Amino acid sequence: ALASESSPTIFSKIISKEIPADILYEDDQSLAFKDVNPVAPTHFLVIPKRQIPMLSQAKQSDSQLLGHLLSVAREVADKEGLTDGYRVVINNGKQGCQSVYHLHIHVLGGRQMTWPPG
Ligand code: 5GP
Repeated sequence: ALASESSPTIFSKIISKEIPADILYEDDQSLAFKDVNPVAPTHFLVIPKRQIPMLSQAKQSDSQLLGHLLSVAREVADKEGLTDGYRVVINNGKQGCQSVYHLHIHVLGGRQMTWPPG
């Protein structure tokens, strides 16, 4: 893997509170915070505190953690009042348009989405 795909990212500094973020949820395994460059009225990210660079590097033993991240996404979406639906996205690798190599789930809502995505 490229260095950019295995080194700590800006998200490590958000987890350690070295840089600020608008945090919506936190527990011992995960953190949810608003995306700094939102592409929908509601746009937040759910990340594991332990850095897995990307979904395609997740192991079978990460299954419980991955499930937990989805549960957090669902819980925070509820808290944010996304009662008319929302979209959950994981960008993986270059062709998936991943830019930060710390696994994260995007949750997008507050407007009508379109399909297929670009
Ligand atoms: P990706 O393209 O890797 O799936 O998404 C990375 C996301 O992280 C982007 O939507 C970007 O706006 C967001 N992001 C990057 N740096 C920061 C940051 O320092 N703080 C916050 N809150 N979001 C960030």
